[in-house]
Amino acid sequence: MMRRLKPFLMFSLMLSLLVAGNGQGQVNHPANQPDSSYYRLASTLIDSALAHGRAYAMLQELVRVGTARLSGSPQAAAAVEWAYQTMKALGLENVHRQPVLVPHWVRGEVEYAAIVNSGRFGTVPLSICALGGSVATPETGITAPVVEVHSLEEVEKLGDRVKGKIVFYNRPLDPTQRVTFRAYAGAVDQRTYGAVYAARQGAVAVLVRSMSTSLDDVPHTGAMRYKPDVPKIPAAAISTLDAEFLSRALKADPELQVRLQLNCRTLPDVRSANVIGEIRGSQHPEEVILLGAHLDAWDKGQGAHDDGSGCVHVLEALRLIRALGLKPARTIRGVLYMNEENGLRGARAYADSARNSGLTHLVAIESDRGGFTPRGFTVGGTDDVLARIQRWAGLFSEIGADRIVRGGGGADISPLKKLGTVQMGLVVDSNRYFDYHHSDNDTIDKVNQRELELGAASLAIMAYVLSMEGI
Ligand SMILES: [Zn+2]
Repeated sequence: MMRRLKPFLMFSLMLSLLVAGNGQGQVNHPANQPDSSYYRLASTLIDSALAHGRAYAMLQELVRVGTARLSGSPQAAAAVEWAYQTMKALGLENVHRQPVLVPHWVRGEVEYAAIVNSGRFGTVPLSICALGGSVATPETGITAPVVEVHSLEEVEKLGDRVKGKIVFYNRPLDPTQRVTFRAYAGAVDQRTYGAVYAARQGAVAVLVRSMSTSLDDVPHTGAMRYKPDVPKIPAAAISTLDAEFLSRALKADPELQVRLQLNCRTLPDVRSANVIGEIRGSQHPEEVILLGAHLDAWDKGQGAHDDGSGCVHVLEALRLIRALGLKPARTIRGVLYMNEENGLRGARAYADSARNSGLTHLVAIESDRGGFTPRGFTVGGTDDVLARIQRWAGLFSEIGADRIVRGGGGADISPLKKLGTVQMGLVVDSNRYFDYHHSDNDTIDKVNQRELELGAASLAIMAYVLSMEGI
């Protein structure tokens, strides 16, 4: 779907094309400085994104057809179909669905928790939701005393003092972390492994403080794990405000009990798919610059930031490159992965197929940090690789997205590491991401159109330059 370009865009584009690239996929330029033609091209891509960007409109479509698109759900199937049709409509090449068998966990209709049997508080409902993968409680629920802890180690130390009780993990995200992803990484062990550690000591259920940077009434779900040799106990997230309340209530009345009822369950695996489309390289089609994001989302909110924004970043980056008539020297391939949130099956399936594809995946760039203002990129690998990517920082400086720093790429592209693929991530402002992440608050009204379009432009610029210059 080629859009008509405004005359000024077309003019600057022609100028750019006259000087950008010599048709051999190589551009001569002084050491450590991008050729000036790349500056003009970057500016043109940004102009095009701001004047005619389609990322936000595509996000509106995605959250409409596939809200709460957890792996295995009908909404996830609708999102796959939407992504496939959208890639076709954008005129991408080699558009196809790569089959993936995915887990199918469903939340069920019953999610209830309350403080009960407290002389002081009476019955007080608590705002909770099941963690992804949790087993159900018995139909009549679980009613038990509560032990508050702040770490997995504390549960081990308490030993059988948690036996027969509900373990309540209440360590908040560290607010002094400059990047909220570090705060999340520093707290998420409670959600992932809390049930295993508690069950080992005989606990009957766990409540985990939501992995949120805001104090509000909304619980945040997310993946949790069991181990084969440890009993499976139900696990739920509690809103940050109710975590604070429960903590105070326990100090006032240590004998209080909590009643928990969940009827979530795991159904048989479901056939689903990664969705793939590309712009074939004009000089080195067998060398791939991969742009990745995940199509699935938790069954809370709309998955607008996580990772609807990443999906439309990828689609729009490809559209922008095509709309300007650019001919990448290497193949730029978009992969919208299935099942990042609770299994990573799509990521593994793609990496397995890449191994024998005859293609060389030079670099993969993931967008899975939300649709906020772009700040730059993370790069994994050697100092030399980092330095080579940092050469392009100036192309992003007019929009302030020029921080190119060491860091991981993202979960979806991580299995490509073993093929030697350089891992990169699109970095956006992280301050609000965990206010919304995995909760009913992750809705499209939290996504700013201009910020989203600039993220897509950043991805387009980096993808195009890498396609021309390689790593
Ligand atoms: Zn995500």
